[in-house]
Amino acid sequence: MVAEIKAILETVSDPEIPVLSVLDLGVVRNMSKEGDAVTIQLTPTYNGCPAVDAMSMSIKLALLSAGYKTVHIETVLSPAWTSDWISDEGKQKLKAYGIAPPIGKSLYPEDMENLTPPCPQCGSEETTLVSAFGSTACKALFRCISCKEPFDYFKCH
Ligand SMILES: [Zn+2]
Repeated sequence: MVAEIKAILETVSDPEIPVLSVLDLGVVRNMSKEGDAVTIQLTPTYNGCPAVDAMSMSIKLALLSAGYKTVHIETVLSPAWTSDWISDEGKQKLKAYGIAPPIGKSLYPEDMENLTPPCPQCGSEETTLVSAFGSTACKALFRCISCKEPFDYFKCH
């Protein structure tokens, strides 16, 4: 039964990074089903992340259009989401999309200066931080010294 819900959630993507499903992102904490009512527990990627509303709306719509009559979305704030929750498959998808996946443990913005995520284009580890704030609050902008290409690094912690 839950496998059925899982299959539906796999089709719901992160509004900011369309190649990632909400399952890849690791924001779905729990799912349960009772009759034709579904309850999904969701943990936002960070407090006040505008993507969360869009995400719960997409999840709701996907489940309703799959025939479930009632969909409850519950927000669970603790423990807080960290980028460690992104699935390995999700990290591969990020890389293929040109975004360097988070490396190691979750990082705080102040650690960004010392960080050299490998370039998703050419794999070089000679990269440099351009801006701690990339195209969205969840990303930092880096530039590869080898191929000169700029790239986003997924930094949410
Ligand atoms: Zn490169």
